Amino acid sequence: MRCVENRKMLGEIKEILSSLYYRNPAELEEKIREVLKAYGVKMDKIVVTGETRNLAIYFFYDNKVRIYTPFQKFEENPVLRKILPVKMLHKKFVVFSTIKKFEEFLSLPKVILINPYIIEKYPIPRLSLGVSILASYLRKYQKAQVLILDTQLGLKAVDIEKKIIQIRPDIIGVSCPHGQTPLVIKILDRIYRLKREKKWDGLVIIGNFIAASFPEYFLKRYPNILIARGEGENTMVDLIEFVKGKKKLEEISGIIAKYKNKILVTPVKPINMDDLPPPASDTVEKLAELRGALTHEWNRGCFWQCTFCPRHHKPKCFKGMSPRVIISQLKYFNSIMNKFSKLSRHLYIADEETIGGVDESETKRLIKIAKGIIRNKIKISFDVYTRIDQIYNLKMPKKWHVNRIKMWHLLKEAGLARVFVGVESGSKTQLMRYGKGITPEQSVMAIRLLSCIGVGFRLGFIMFDPLMSMQELIENILFLERDDALMKIINLKKCTFNDLFNLIHDKKLVEKNKLGDPLCTRVSYMLAQLEVLIGCNYIKLLKIAEKKYKKKLIIGKPDMRIGKIKVRYLNPKIGLLAKFSQEWIDRNFELMYAIKGLRKTARNNEERKLFELMKTHRKLSLDFIKSMVLIATKNKKLFKIPKIIKCHGYLEKFWNLMEKNSLKESLKKCLEIFLRIMEVEIVDKSSKLLQQREINDTKDERLKKAIQRWKIYNSSSKIIDE
Ligand code: SF4
Repeated sequence: MRCVENRKMLGEIKEILSSLYYRNPAELEEKIREVLKAYGVKMDKIVVTGETRNLAIYFFYDNKVRIYTPFQKFEENPVLRKILPVKMLHKKFVVFSTIKKFEEFLSLPKVILINPYIIEKYPIPRLSLGVSILASYLRKYQKAQVLILDTQLGLKAVDIEKKIIQIRPDIIGVSCPHGQTPLVIKILDRIYRLKREKKWDGLVIIGNFIAASFPEYFLKRYPNILIARGEGENTMVDLIEFVKGKKKLEEISGIIAKYKNKILVTPVKPINMDDLPPPASDTVEKLAELRGALTHEWNRGCFWQCTFCPRHHKPKCFKGMSPRVIISQLKYFNSIMNKFSKLSRHLYIADEETIGGVDESETKRLIKIAKGIIRNKIKISFDVYTRIDQIYNLKMPKKWHVNRIKMWHLLKEAGLARVFVGVESGSKTQLMRYGKGITPEQSVMAIRLLSCIGVGFRLGFIMFDPLMSMQELIENILFLERDDALMKIINLKKCTFNDLFNLIHDKKLVEKNKLGDPLCTRVSYMLAQLEVLIGCNYIKLLKIAEKKYKKKLIIGKPDMRIGKIKVRYLNPKIGLLAKFSQEWIDRNFELMYAIKGLRKTARNNEERKLFELMKTHRKLSLDFIKSMVLIATKNKKLFKIPKIIKCHGYLEKFWNLMEKNSLKESLKKCLEIFLRIMEVEIVDKSSKLLQQREINDTKDERLKKAIQRWKIYNSSSKIIDE
């Protein structure tokens, strides 16, 4: 018997792979080498490819190759079933005496995928879906050896540089999402310095929103760089073929590149969702330590076109993964969560939209997913993204709504914890500008329906847009104060779905069953401004307004860091309120992001404490904008002065602000008052909760650092002084 056929040794290898299957195949290769060494078995070469259940090991020795797939037969492996003879497909172990074909096929290019995130701004990490899915896709189809470098986990640009020198990859892929451009540029500058110093020479490709929106910038700054302009999976596969000399540059799908003194733009090759494997989990061990959250993708694209949502780098229409594949991937996540008890058993389904339309076939698809989760006893909770009209649709009859409540209820039973839904505005006219196709009252109905069955909410809300009126701003404030949308959970043993639909339309029953929390407590980012992102349809509205009002609203060049167009507000007073609101957001962002991030993995009392802090901050934000509107309009009858001002002894000071002539000075003072209140209500309370161990920080104390930075920043830096 050949040594490599030693059953005991193979059993040991299988055992190692069974417990470490989530790791990078290169690390598994190392582990297998150690086992072989212990058994005194020498090999010319070992290659481990694939991902999770698709792992395949190739042992090369004496001009032979032995292939072993520990977890499944060859026929289930997407690559081996294509290259092996049919008669062998039922096996898991086979030997070939011709190695050339395999050597050629296994000369896998090395790929490094970089996920840059500025941790001072986004302190709590999450599984980075973009690079993780790309990595697992390339592994599944045995196209490359992939290493993920994620700065969320503490890596610095200098560490990335060292890794590049050590690994010498053929391709480096860098994700360039919204808000991370300074770090991306820092990393790219280092990569190109290595190129200039001839320490590394390979291909660089960048993708995601900023890269696809500003290709000229990157093409000019970095010679021979390639830009991925859509879904990256097929682009990367083509690029690997290019590196191997099997494809020409113009045959790589979905890129923008400089080619023969021209700009080459090639068509995007869409991916079939069912071909995607679960995201690579190389980083989960570290994520667990840092209290990071897990994310998953069920669908891509959206069937709508809101005016503020750029779609040029996204799939042109909605496409969903089949329930069968979703369930099998959820089982995978289940095994990961079982392995790392520190990970929260919660998944963020990071789709643009999860349902996919109003069609009954979509209702059935989601019901199938929910039933699959329940039948397979997968104990994972999850959040999804959806639109208001997927819950409450003005064009649909009662029967449709009853079917949808049934669907949402089943999803809830399966683990649905919250939906993220874009309410966006409490003003009808502003919603029309946003092209949302919904009304504020419709949002209230949708929120009532789902909260009645116990589904929680994260609301998207864009308080300001450059074309808004003061009346619309007031409507937004009044909407966010509404306490008749979030409902108590209704006992469904005593109430049919039909009754539930009637209940949300009955004023008395609503009054009796309302939870009492104002809507603002569920808004993810309070006081947000509409970011006029490059490529969105809102730009057309701005141009129409420019003509109509003979005012220049689009000013300067787009801001590369966030892909935004610089704009001026039509009503300068609102522009000023938006500016001070942004100052409030910026000053509190890191701290609130840390609190929110920790809540993602918190349980029971800790979760409640963190949520209380979030709710307090959101109410405070609403009180802040209310106070600013009072100052700006000098209309004391608009709203009551927020109680919190009185509670903290600032009432007299506030009255004085209402009398002042300089709006800017008054808003400045108002912001100062609210920052002091924030210090007492959130900052000091968070410190105390940390000290009392009622909330736990990450291993490297990211919340504590955020608190320290808040204190330093808000005691030293001046408030808006241009
Ligand atoms: S904002 Fe949401 S609903 Fe609107 S187009 Fe974008 S993804 Fe679709």
